[in-house]
Amino acid sequence: MEIDDGFERRLKGQPVSPGIAIGVLRVEAQGCSAPATRTILPVELESEWARFEAALTRTEEELHSLKARVEHLSGANEAAIFDAHLLFLRDRTILNKLRKEVPRRMQNIDSVYYAVVQNFMEVMRHVDDSYLRSRVADIGDVLQRVLKNMAPVAASPRAGESAEPCVLAAYDLSPSDTADLDPNTVLGFVTEAGSAVSHTAILARSLGLPAVVAVPHLVMESRVGRPAILDGYSGVLIINPTAETLDHYREIQAEKEKAYSALIEMKDLPAETTDGRRIRLAANVEFAHEYGAISRSGAEGVGLYRTEFFLLGNGGLPDEETQYEHYRELVERCAPHEVIFRTLDSGGDKLPFEVLEEKEDNPFLGWRGIRVSLSRPEVFKEQLCAILRASAHGKVGVMFPMVSGITEVRDVHALLDECRTDLRARGLAYDENMRVGIMIEVPSAAMMADVLARHVDFFSIGTNDLTQYTIAVDRVNYRVASMFRSTHPGVVRLMRQTIAAGIPTGICGEMGGDITLVPLLVGLGVRELSVGTHLLPLIRFAIRHLNYEECRIMAEEALQAEDSYTIRRLSKDLALKSYPTLFD
Ligand code: PEP
Ligand code: MG
Repeated sequence: MEIDDGFERRLKGQPVSPGIAIGVLRVEAQGCSAPATRTILPVELESEWARFEAALTRTEEELHSLKARVEHLSGANEAAIFDAHLLFLRDRTILNKLRKEVPRRMQNIDSVYYAVVQNFMEVMRHVDDSYLRSRVADIGDVLQRVLKNMAPVAASPRAGESAEPCVLAAYDLSPSDTADLDPNTVLGFVTEAGSAVSHTAILARSLGLPAVVAVPHLVMESRVGRPAILDGYSGVLIINPTAETLDHYREIQAEKEKAYSALIEMKDLPAETTDGRRIRLAANVEFAHEYGAISRSGAEGVGLYRTEFFLLGNGGLPDEETQYEHYRELVERCAPHEVIFRTLDSGGDKLPFEVLEEKEDNPFLGWRGIRVSLSRPEVFKEQLCAILRASAHGKVGVMFPMVSGITEVRDVHALLDECRTDLRARGLAYDENMRVGIMIEVPSAAMMADVLARHVDFFSIGTNDLTQYTIAVDRVNYRVASMFRSTHPGVVRLMRQTIAAGIPTGICGEMGGDITLVPLLVGLGVRELSVGTHLLPLIRFAIRHLNYEECRIMAEEALQAEDSYTIRRLSKDLALKSYPTLFD
C-alpha cells in the first residue's frame, strides 16, 4: 500500500471527456466519502485507537438493533445479513492490518481504516466466487457506518462537505450519480471502473466535465484534500502537482479555451465539405440546462433527445401534459430546426423503468428500450401524444430505441395511429407530417434496413449499441473496454448496409463526435451527425476541411479492410491531412 509522501504522482486511465480540471481531490467509493487524512503524533496513537474502538462498539449496537427490527418485520432469513456485517466488523485480517498500518503511516485512524477496507474490497471485486463478489456492497455498508460513528477529526472537514471546487475520484459513478453532480463544485471526475461509451461518460461530455475512467487502484492511491489536476485529454490524474506542472497545465487550459472560442466563432458557418456536400450537424441533449448550449454551439436543432433522463430522473413519471410542456419548450427554442425525440430508453446501464423483482442477468439484452414501452402501452401513449402535440409548435421527429425488426415498427405505428385518433377526438393539434424514424443499434435491424426503410422516414445509427451488440462487447464493462471498437469491419459494414437502404440516415452515437472518424462517416454517406454540444464546433471545423470525394474513396477502401485498426488508420490519415490543427 502506498504512503502519500507529498510528491507528484501520476495515475493513467482512459480519457472520456476532454478538458482540464484543477482542484482538490474528493474521494468517494461505494457511496462513501473518504475521510480527510492528517498526520498524527505518537502521543495520539492511543486516543486514535480509543476513538476507533468506540466507533466499533457503537456500530455493533446499531447492527444488533437493526437485526432485531428486520427480524421482527421480515423474519430471520432477511435479518441474517446483519450477522455477516457483524462478522466483518471484527474481521481479524482487517484489524491486524490496521494495527500494522496506523503506526507505519502515522495518520488518523479513520483514514487508514478507509484505505485498508478499500484495499480489501478491491481484492474481493476480483475473486472468482460470485457470492463473495456480491458481498462487496455489504462491506461498503459497514465501512460507511464505522466512519459515521467516529468523531470527526479536528480541523479536517469530511470530504464532500466542503464546497471547495474539487476533482471527484470514485470507484464508479452511475449515470444518475453523474447527472446529480453539481458543476459548481465538481470540476471533473475520475473513476476506477467505467468505459468511454457508458452513459456516465456520455453525460460527462454533455455536462462539459473533464473525465477519465479505468484508472487502476485509483481509490487506494487517492488522498482526500490533496491538490490535483485531471487531464481529460490524455487521461491522467496528477496528485500533488509541482508548481511547474501546475503552470504547464494552466497554460494548456488557457490555450485550449482560446482555440475553442475561435471554433465557437465559426458557429454560423455551414457544415459543408470543400466540394459542397452539406451535412446536418445537430445536438445530442439530455437535460434542460443544455438548451442554451444548443444555439451557442450553432447546432441545427436536436438529432437525439434522450428523454429517459427527464422521464425517470425526477421521481415518478410526468403525465402527458407535463411532458407536452417540456417538449414544446425545446421545440420552440430550436425552431426552425427539427428536434428528434427518442422515446424512453430505460434499462441497460440507465435508470430502470420500474424495479424488477429479480435482477436481470443481462440487462443490455433484457427489458430495455422499445421493449419496455411496448409492454406498457398506456404509459407509452402518453409520451407519444405529448410528442405529437409538441409537433404542432415546430419541426419534430420521433424515433424509437432498440428496434430489432419489423414487428416493433408495426406496433409503434399502430400506437401512433391510436394517439392521432385520440388527439383528434380531444380537438388537440399535431403535425400530420411529423417524421417517424428508428434507431439502428441492433444488428438485425441493420441487416433488415432495406425492409425497415419502407416503413419509416429516417434512420439514426446508434453506434454505441450497434458496436456493443455486433461484436458482443458490453459497453460498460471495463474489462473488455479495449475491445470496444466502433471501427470493427463488422460494424462499419452494417452501417454501410443501413445507409444503402436509401432513406435519410444520421449518426447519433459517440462515434459521430470523434474527430478521427468524421472522414469515414462522411465517406460512408451519412448526411447528419448528432453530437454533444461541446464537440459540435470541432466537428463543424472538421467537416468544413474535408473533401467528400476523398472521404468516399477512403471509405470504399475501409470497407475492404480486414481489421478495425486499418479502418481507424485510414480515417485518421485523412483527418490529419485535412485538419491537423485539431490534433494539436
Ligand atoms: C447509441 O446506442 O449509440 C445511442 C445513441 O443511444 P444510447 O447511447 O443512449 O444508448
Ligand atoms: Mg443506444
